[in-house]
Amino acid sequence: MASHAKLSASGSDRWINCPGSVKAEAGIKEQNRSYAQEGTCAHELAELVLINGGSCFEWIGQPLIENNAFTVTQEMAGYVQEYVDYVQSVGGFQMHEQQVDYSAWVPEGFGTSDAICIHGDLMTCIDLKYGKGVTVHAEKNSQGMLYALGAYSDFGDLQEIKRIKIVIVQPRKDHISEWELSLADLLKWGEWVSQKAEDCLQPDAERVPGEKQCLFCKAKATCPALLKKTQEVILSDFDNLDLPEVSNLTDAQMRKALDSKQLVIGWLNAVEAHISERVSSGKGFQGYKLVEGRAVRAWQDEKAAAEKLQSLLDEAAFEKKLLSPAKAEKALGKVKAAEIKDLIFKPKGKPVLAREDDPRESVQISADDFD
Ligand code: SF4
Repeated sequence: MASHAKLSASGSDRWINCPGSVKAEAGIKEQNRSYAQEGTCAHELAELVLINGGSCFEWIGQPLIENNAFTVTQEMAGYVQEYVDYVQSVGGFQMHEQQVDYSAWVPEGFGTSDAICIHGDLMTCIDLKYGKGVTVHAEKNSQGMLYALGAYSDFGDLQEIKRIKIVIVQPRKDHISEWELSLADLLKWGEWVSQKAEDCLQPDAERVPGEKQCLFCKAKATCPALLKKTQEVILSDFDNLDLPEVSNLTDAQMRKALDSKQLVIGWLNAVEAHISERVSSGKGFQGYKLVEGRAVRAWQDEKAAAEKLQSLLDEAAFEKKLLSPAKAEKALGKVKAAEIKDLIFKPKGKPVLAREDDPRESVQISADDFD
């Protein structure tokens, strides 16, 4: 069996929304391997602790994953422990890093669910997201729903399941998202996604650019459909590249431009990464070369520098900084951290602009806020 399904659950946001992406991505290598390795290490640590017991902190300094490529840090141990605590709090009959088979809905569909917990008539599928870039929500999360279909197909006969809960634990964003649906609704969605999967396997499957699907598509630097879409956004509404003053744009033009911001930026970044990869691998690219990036000065020998500075500046040679609440909690451990609970408060976040369909509640601004 291949290590990744062609119609993978993790790539489902892409192939559901852009059927042509399956063929477009074929044969293109994964970039940013170090992020992937860090994520794999976090998942391996979680599995070790959930299966063998103990705490993630006991693994600090231990090299994990293939070829000992990544070492568990204090920071990783703290974040992964949050996931472990969540999974343990769900209870029930549990399986960890469990392969599930959703091929009854998606041809050759299989994947690995981080945690499946069965408790009464409820099946909970929990996904650890170690990344801190994009916030992932549980509601209508196609990856979680495909894993839930697979888990139901493989283990649904252990207990009479009526309800499904999808959970995303994203500790580096301090974010836990839960969403419950009935088994009947999940199976109905399974029929819908089955049709979407069929569309992907057609030889002339359409490429449909969009923010969600193009975000992690490996073909985006060279995709003609995305190029056409970005050209439309940048050029068609405006006469030329001398873009007009923002204040002269209509509301519709501004909405269209902002709606496409991530898509255009993502495409430009992908083109830059593609050219950079060509130049660094010696293939060259006309009009571009590699130069030395900006570097920050550093001490050649920290110990010698500390001694010299102390002799010159005494205590002023060192800065003392209070730990942040998150770092203090990690250093203290779960039990002692209770002693500082009352000292911590979370200020209101500064309002940020979001699209109407963003799952967060809209912030009400009153006249007092302008004082
Ligand atoms: S870049 Fe976007 S439009 Fe092109 S194949 Fe990928 S997902 Fe589809």
